[in-house]
Formats: sequence, C-alpha cells, structure tokens
Amino acid sequence: MAIVGIGALGSRVAEDLARAGVGRLRLIDRDWVEPSNLHRQHLFDESDAENEEPKALAAAHRLAAINSEIELVPELRDLGPDNADDLLSDADLVVDGTDNFQTRYLLNDFCVREGKPWIYGACVSTQAMVAPFLPERACLRCLFPEPPPASAAQTCETAGILPPAAAIVTALQCALALRILATDSLPAAELLTADVLSGELRTMRLLEAPSDACPACQRRDFPALALGSQSRTKKLCGRNAVQLSAPAGECLPLEALAARLVDFAPELSSYMLRITVPEARITVFPGGRAIVQGTEDEGRARALFDRYVGS
Ligand SMILES: [Zn+2]
Repeated sequence: MAIVGIGALGSRVAEDLARAGVGRLRLIDRDWVEPSNLHRQHLFDESDAENEEPKALAAAHRLAAINSEIELVPELRDLGPDNADDLLSDADLVVDGTDNFQTRYLLNDFCVREGKPWIYGACVSTQAMVAPFLPERACLRCLFPEPPPASAAQTCETAGILPPAAAIVTALQCALALRILATDSLPAAELLTADVLSGELRTMRLLEAPSDACPACQRRDFPALALGSQSRTKKLCGRNAVQLSAPAGECLPLEALAARLVDFAPELSSYMLRITVPEARITVFPGGRAIVQGTEDEGRARALFDRYVGS
C-alpha cells in the first residue's frame, strides 16, 4: 500500500501499519524534516531536523528498526499527474496523508480510474475528518465536484494542527486500512468527524452510489490527472517556501549542476543539492524539482531559481 505525505498524518499511519505488519509500505513525501514538525510528526527527532533528512527516508529508517520484516519503499517525490502511475499503480490501498485538496483530488481521480480504495484524512486545528472511498461507490468528486478554492479552506498554515486531532485521524485511518486489507467486511460510506477539544464525535452518512453527475465515475473524465493540470509552482503550507515542479525534458544530473554552481559552495548528497544565496535557500532534487525557501511569492521564487540555478 502507499501513504501519500509523511507528515502529521502519514508518519503515524506508517508507524501503526508497520507495527501491524502490513507487508509493503511505499512512503511518498516531497519534503525534509524541520524543527517545527517535531511536535506532531511522530517518526522524527531532533537529529533528523538538524540534518534536514528527507521525511520519506527518515521514516523508512525508523520503521525498518521497528519492523525489519516489512518492505519499505521511500519516494522523495511530489505526487503529480506525471508520476501517479509510477508511484501508485502497485498499491492495493492508498492512504491520504496530504495537506492539500489538489493532491486529494489527484488521489481520487487516480483511484477511481484504477478501481483502488483510498482513505481520506484531514486535520485542521482541533478537528479530525476521515472517510473511506471504495471502488464502485461514490467518490470525492461525487460529493464535491471540484476542490474548494484555495482561499476558502482553512489550512494547517492558517489554523495549525493540535497533535491529538492528528492522532484521531490516523487511528481511524489505520482501522479502516486494516479492515479493507484484512477482512471481507467493507466499511460504510461515512464521514467520521471529531473535535478533540469539545469531545464531539460525529458520523455523517455519505452518498453510497456514484452520482449521475460525477465526471469521474460517469464519464471517466479525470481532470486532476490531466498533464498540466497542476500549477508548476506551489506555495508550501507554513514554510515560507515555494516548490517549483521539474521542467519537462532532460535535467542536468545533480553532480553536473553542483560543478556549475561551485561559486555558491553547493551542498550535495545523493538525493539533493542545495545552495544558500543572500535572498533564499534553493534545494534541487534529482529530475529538477526544486524548493525555494525565503519567499511565499511564486513569481519571486521562480525568478530566484532562474537567476541562480537557471531554467
Ligand atoms: Zn464520482
């Protein structure tokens, strides 16, 4: 199975499923560990933050020490329409550990197209939300045809996350995962919500059969999987950073790029290259994806990247 996003949700789900002995876990995350993650992201510690370990790798190391009998496949990539087949095709179940609707709609479209179950999970402030989406049933688009506008939804950036709320999300996600993987009894089409401060728990019945109006279920139209459907730049939640997608076509290997950027004293490892310039810190991953830290302005991030690294 695959877990998309190894943060507050994904790291707990991964640990519980590893301890439960789920045979193969693909851990997909685009980012590295930071000190501000440690209060809510369970698999990481101060040394991971100090070394800025990629979350997928740090999680895989920790999980291997917890259960050496399972297979762990860390992926330091940003899930998108261009690599969804590659990252998710062999998963029998996909767990949502993401923090944004763009990626959730991509998970939804991929899983509807491929007939795979996925488990939605979200956590904002003190609220937890979980729902299973199964093949032949109503999908996320049946309920909400389009993602909410970016400004409409509260995010972990604007509202924060109280760690116990993440614990509720992941406990419910794990229970659903084990039920789907290990039993013949499918969970009901329900949205489970909880507020950890008020203690209120609710179950909301969801539409069971696919909606007649759903583009994905009825017309096999999957907008989130269309190449070019995702913007090439993405502001990263709470990070004062912008991600730039890999450009199409050939990219320089990191070693060659490091040689070209020698004046900026690049830090180079097998999984990233980083330069620090007066205005920003720029990290480039194999294949050309980059994260520019020091600005939330997408145009400025692109300009800094072009100025120092070159497009
Ligand atoms: Zn649908």
